[in-house]
Amino acid sequence: MALTIRGLSKTYPNGVVALKNLSLSIGNNMFGLLGPNGAGKSSLMRTIATLQEPDAGSIDLDGINVLTQKDAVRRILGYLPQEFGVYPKLSATDMLNHLAILKGVAVVAERKEMVEALLQQTNLWQVRKKALSTFSGGMKQRFGIAQALLANPRLIIVDEPTAGLDPAERNRFLNLLSSIGRDITVILSTHIVDDVRELCSRMAVIAAGKVLLEGSPAEALTALDGQIWSRIVATDDELRGLESQFQIVSTHLVSGQHEIRVFSASSPGTAFRAVPPGLEDVYFLTLSRNNKN
Ligand code: ADP
Repeated sequence: MALTIRGLSKTYPNGVVALKNLSLSIGNNMFGLLGPNGAGKSSLMRTIATLQEPDAGSIDLDGINVLTQKDAVRRILGYLPQEFGVYPKLSATDMLNHLAILKGVAVVAERKEMVEALLQQTNLWQVRKKALSTFSGGMKQRFGIAQALLANPRLIIVDEPTAGLDPAERNRFLNLLSSIGRDITVILSTHIVDDVRELCSRMAVIAAGKVLLEGSPAEALTALDGQIWSRIVATDDELRGLESQFQIVSTHLVSGQHEIRVFSASSPGTAFRAVPPGLEDVYFLTLSRNNKN
C-alpha cells in the first residue's frame, strides 16, 4: 500500500492555518505521526479519511484519488477518530453488527462470522453482550479498533488512541495495534513519543501544519549518536546558568533533582556523561529547531 500526500493546505473559516503545503509518503506497516496538540494531525487524518476537504494539494492511495473517489477510499479504510461516538445502550455485538450493515456487509452469516472474529481479536468476547456505556476507556478503544477493522480495510487510521488510557490498558491497546499492523497499514497519530517508539517502523514529526522530520525512528536516533549528554543540576540558579550556555533538550525531575539532557557535538564538560539518544530527544530537538527558524 502506498499513500502519497502532496502539497496539502488547509485554512479553517476562522483563519486558523492547520496544514501548510504538507507532503508525506506512507508505505506499509505502522506509521507514526507525532506532533504536539494543534500540530494539524487530526486535520490531516480527517482529510485522508475523506471527512473534510483541503484547500489545495492531492492524496493518492494506490492509484485512488482520495479527494475525488471518496467511496473507493471508504471501502478500504478503517478510521478510529479522536471523538468516537456509539449508541451507549447497545451491546458491543449489536453495535458492530449495525456498523457492519452500514459498511455493506449484507449476508447475515458473513456478518456474524466477521463480528465474532473481531470481538475475539480485540479481546472483547467476554463482554460482548454488555452495553457500551459500561466499557472502560481501554475497552472503548479496543471496540473502536474492532469497528475500524470491519470489512477488511487495507488502511487504518487511529487518532490519538492512547490518550487517557491507564498503563495496563495502553499496553493491551498497543499490542493489539501491533498485531494488526503486520497485515495492513496503520497510521497512528499521537503526541506521545513512547507510542511511536514502541510500535512504528516509520514516522514523521509535524508541527504548525508542516512536516519537520520524516524517516525511521532508528535512523533519527543514529543521527544523534554521541551527541546527547546528561547531568544532575542541584539548584535552579545553576539550571538557568546552563540554559544560557548549552542547548538543553529536556529537563526531568529525578528524586526531586533536575536531570538535564544537552545536545552537543562534543563533550560539554566533565560533569556531563554521554547517554544513548532517545526518541524524546529526537522529538524535542526537531520541535526546538523549528521554533528557532
Ligand atoms: P492536532 O490533531 O495535531 O491537535 P488539529 O488538526 O486538531 O491538530 O488542529 C490544528 C489547528 O486547527 C489547531 O489550531 C485547531 O485549533 C484548529 N482547528 C481544528 N479543527 C478546526 C475547525 N473545525 N475549525 C477551526 N479551527 C480548527
